[in-house]
Amino acid sequence: MERYVCIHAHFYQPPRENPWLEEIELQDSAYPYHDWNERIAAECYASNAASRILDGQGRIVDIVNNYSRISFNFGPTVLSWMEIHEPAVYQAILDADHYDLEKVKDRILEYLAVRRLKPDSSGPILCFVGPPGVGKTSLGRSIASALGREFERISVGGVRDEAEIRGHRRTYIGAMPGTIIRALRDAGSKNPVFMIDEIDKMGADFRGDPASAMLEVLDPAQNDTFRDHYIDLDFDLSDVMFIATANVLDTIPGPLRDRMEVIPLSGYTLDEKLHIAKRYLVPRQIEENGLTASQIAFSDPALKAIAEEYTREAGVRNLERQIGTVCRKIARERAEGREKKKVTISAKRARELLGRRLYFSEVRRRTRRPGVATGLAWTPVGGEVLFIEATQMPGSGKLTITGQLGDVMRESAQAALSYVRGHVSVLAPELDDGWFAAHDIHVHVPAGAVPKDGPSAGVAMTIALVSLLTDTPVADDVAMTGEVTLTGQVLPVGGLKEKSLAAQRAGLSRVIAPARNEGEVLEIPEHEREGLSFVYVEEIGEAIEAAFDGKLP
Ligand code: ADP
Repeated sequence: MERYVCIHAHFYQPPRENPWLEEIELQDSAYPYHDWNERIAAECYASNAASRILDGQGRIVDIVNNYSRISFNFGPTVLSWMEIHEPAVYQAILDADHYDLEKVKDRILEYLAVRRLKPDSSGPILCFVGPPGVGKTSLGRSIASALGREFERISVGGVRDEAEIRGHRRTYIGAMPGTIIRALRDAGSKNPVFMIDEIDKMGADFRGDPASAMLEVLDPAQNDTFRDHYIDLDFDLSDVMFIATANVLDTIPGPLRDRMEVIPLSGYTLDEKLHIAKRYLVPRQIEENGLTASQIAFSDPALKAIAEEYTREAGVRNLERQIGTVCRKIARERAEGREKKKVTISAKRARELLGRRLYFSEVRRRTRRPGVATGLAWTPVGGEVLFIEATQMPGSGKLTITGQLGDVMRESAQAALSYVRGHVSVLAPELDDGWFAAHDIHVHVPAGAVPKDGPSAGVAMTIALVSLLTDTPVADDVAMTGEVTLTGQVLPVGGLKEKSLAAQRAGLSRVIAPARNEGEVLEIPEHEREGLSFVYVEEIGEAIEAAFDGKLP
């Protein structure tokens, strides 16, 4: 039986005004199925237009896959949209949507250039890794808009059931296709930019391992014959451009990580946040709250106060939210007729509107006493400043460690103590011989609700102990990171970029870091290291020298 459909073909219309694109629409019910491809080829492909075909009644009927047809009782026709191949457009769109991120943009442009030269290249899958709110999703959206492709996004965080990815067999009641095919249906095209969010949070249980199904989806060598249980026919995913996002790399299963090219996004400095706020967040929030630029403006000190006192994050999501709150309150004042003139938000006004200050810079206050050192930690949501406290009491030589520390961190506390005890004659010569036998030591890392682990607090633990035993406070402008061996060598650690951003956010000016991490630090763009100086150490002795400004022997 022959079916008749109507074809809507229209030139792709990106969100921005594009003079060379216009919209045409073809209404035609005279074309039977088998003429589709020819007709589209003639009408649309030739003119470098994107095309989408819908069913006549607006109902979802079929998937057309590579000139072959899959009957599928819902799902729109899936056809390729032609890509826009204009490198200048790529750059312009990426720049228009995102501030800075030079390296990331470069990498994306290289990727797109390769695709342009070799359209059938499958290339690696990009994976954006970084804390929340640093622009991973919105970069994906920009890539889609630069390419003139549809954008689809699925989240696989918490997915434990393989059938979520691969669909259910139709013998089951309530069976449906997996998220991949459903998202393609929603995209209405078989070459969308497809963002897979939270790939690091996929689980596995008795219902199968979704990661291995995901592997089949992402692996260019096998994804041209992806088989969804529901449609039960091979489906070619090789035209889809997959981009994955994750907060951490460690939990992504090895084989999956292997197939992805990781692009790290580490967070923004205060200065970058202010630029992003001025250029993107403020205009967007003004508009979203029904105001215009002639009614409200934000002064620079106001934005700085909002970022410093009301947010503490690596990304800019809360900053945007707080700016939105201010706009909303002004919108209300206008709506109630209390405010008629243009309002310029000053720091004082911002504080009035937002209420009690949420975050304080507490480093200086906390490190005033001996026995406290400022460490730096890496977490999935960005770097964090972490205080390590040590105290002593009469006892019998016990070490107590608290603060929900993981095994590795407990061990590094023990190693730090052993090192200090072993070198006590140099580090704290005034202590008498029996001191350790007559005292207990307690090491605590406050913020107990945050689980902490990893070896990189070794330096900070050692310094906290030295500070306690010598009764000398640590310099209040310095943070430190590094693993310490029993012989006092300082080993390199990861995540230095996130950590130094955290130090900067906390208002610190010096970071003691392992010498072997120097290369990594030099890779951080200079403007992001502004106001921070690094002290590279190979031995704990050098760290002690720097942490106490040379006050100890
Ligand atoms: P993620 O996916 O990394 O959690 P999003 O992509 O949702 O973060 O970004 C959160 C918000 O921050 C978005 O509104 C985005 O536009 C904005 N944003 C993040 N980075 C930038 C940047 N470099 N320039 C402009 N806006 C940005």
